[in-house]
Amino acid sequence: MDKGHVYLIGAGPGDPDLMTQKAMKALKKADVIVYDYLANNKILRDCKSDAEYIYVGKQANNHAMKQEDINALLAEKGKAGHVVARLKGGDPYVFGRGGEEAAVLRKEGVSFETIPGVTSAIAGPSYAGIPVTHRGVARSFHVMTGHFKDDYAEWDWDALHRLDGTLIFLMGIGNIPRITQALIEAGKPADTPAAVIRWATYPIQRTVTGTLETLADEVEKAGIKPPGLIVVGPVVNFREVLSTFENRPLFGQKVIVTRSRAQAGKVSTQLEDMGAEVAELPMISIEKLPASQWQNTIDNLKSYSWIVFTSQNAVTAFMQGLNSKGLDVRALGHLKLASIGSGTAEALKDFGLISDLIPERAISDSLAESMKKIINSDDKVLVPSGNLASNILKNELSAICQIDMPVVYKTVVGEESADHLKDVLEGGVDGITFTSASTVKNFNALIEKAGISWPEAKYFSIGPKTSEVLKTLGKTPIESDKATIDSLVKCVERDLKI
Ligand code: SAH
Repeated sequence: MDKGHVYLIGAGPGDPDLMTQKAMKALKKADVIVYDYLANNKILRDCKSDAEYIYVGKQANNHAMKQEDINALLAEKGKAGHVVARLKGGDPYVFGRGGEEAAVLRKEGVSFETIPGVTSAIAGPSYAGIPVTHRGVARSFHVMTGHFKDDYAEWDWDALHRLDGTLIFLMGIGNIPRITQALIEAGKPADTPAAVIRWATYPIQRTVTGTLETLADEVEKAGIKPPGLIVVGPVVNFREVLSTFENRPLFGQKVIVTRSRAQAGKVSTQLEDMGAEVAELPMISIEKLPASQWQNTIDNLKSYSWIVFTSQNAVTAFMQGLNSKGLDVRALGHLKLASIGSGTAEALKDFGLISDLIPERAISDSLAESMKKIINSDDKVLVPSGNLASNILKNELSAICQIDMPVVYKTVVGEESADHLKDVLEGGVDGITFTSASTVKNFNALIEKAGISWPEAKYFSIGPKTSEVLKTLGKTPIESDKATIDSLVKCVERDLKI
């Protein structure tokens, strides 16, 4: 059996880009991933898809799994020969109980290493525009717990007061009245600036500022709950000058990005960079149909002169079906090949196939126009399709020659995605982006599956075809100037900017 290894990984405070390269490397190797509630789920996007995911989350009063059980779990998975990634929010050794986990692994003879992470104690204030030290203003910073029950007694407040640096309390949201009052009693001026930062570095980051005297009230008014950290000291005032994260154009806006093949990632990243909270809906799964259900397409391949691919899914489903019949690309040697766009053409290249025709614009209209110019009545066109394919090609080309569109894959909506949609819609949403007509149809199918109605939001459409489908559903689209991702993103920015 291979020897197991456990990585105790600091996942940083939330923003996935604050993960270190070393943490990312370890995470990608892992086949068991143990994570808790302070590690951003989005980090898990890049993990092995067949890894085992174990949530051991921990919120103040709601321990999903006891620490001893977590320790035992890590030892057990390590001993079983797995590469285990134990993801922890911030740094594993800053109030993360990483030391305890590591000690158990050593005792049990399981090999391990600890990968430090960016701690929320420093990154949190930073993202709120608060430097923890500043020349002439604060020459030290002190990180401590603000939670006094169980293992810890209250601080010697006089000693804290004399420290004269920035004070940073973790796990103290429930104790703000006590902490601020104790500091004032110890001699800190009541007007000392203070701040609370909730969900720091996440798109939902929230900062509340005040003074030692007012902070508790401000926080209560704002309804701030954990997780959050408290910063006390004059450095808090720099926020007015140094805050950038919360000033981005789409900060505070929640946008749903409906998935369409590779495009969702690009839309999400651009919107996230502008500050939006993005939820990607992986709402459709693709089910490839066996070649036996393609109306004898494979047996009749010889009768066609053109094969046209309108999506990457069609390429993979068709090639898989071809292989399942004991055939390969040589069976297509006599055919001319068209792709709707560069993505599809790339997918064909993976099979060693070069497209003879790629229209200028990656839409059915444009493909039909280009095809019309070169085919004649002797041609016979095969378009392996999905069940939601548009009938534009068929309408345009069937006047000239025979065109067959066997369904080689289906898009299906799962229960899981419907539940996920309900979660995403909790608390409302500001915008939804649609990058193709089928994303609208899929979204609608998902809404129906979930048994709910369309959320009140702005519906952003990439172009006329997509808008049309939205209109048939009674929705008013906001259409992007050009049918490109960049243009769509600009359109969202223009409309949702605060
Ligand atoms: N190891 C973590 C801290 C774990 S203790 C680190 O280095 O950051 C948990 C406490 O950390 C929370 O109660 C909260 O005070 C703070 N915390 C962690 N992540 C946070 C975040 N994104 N925003 C605000 N506070 C956070």
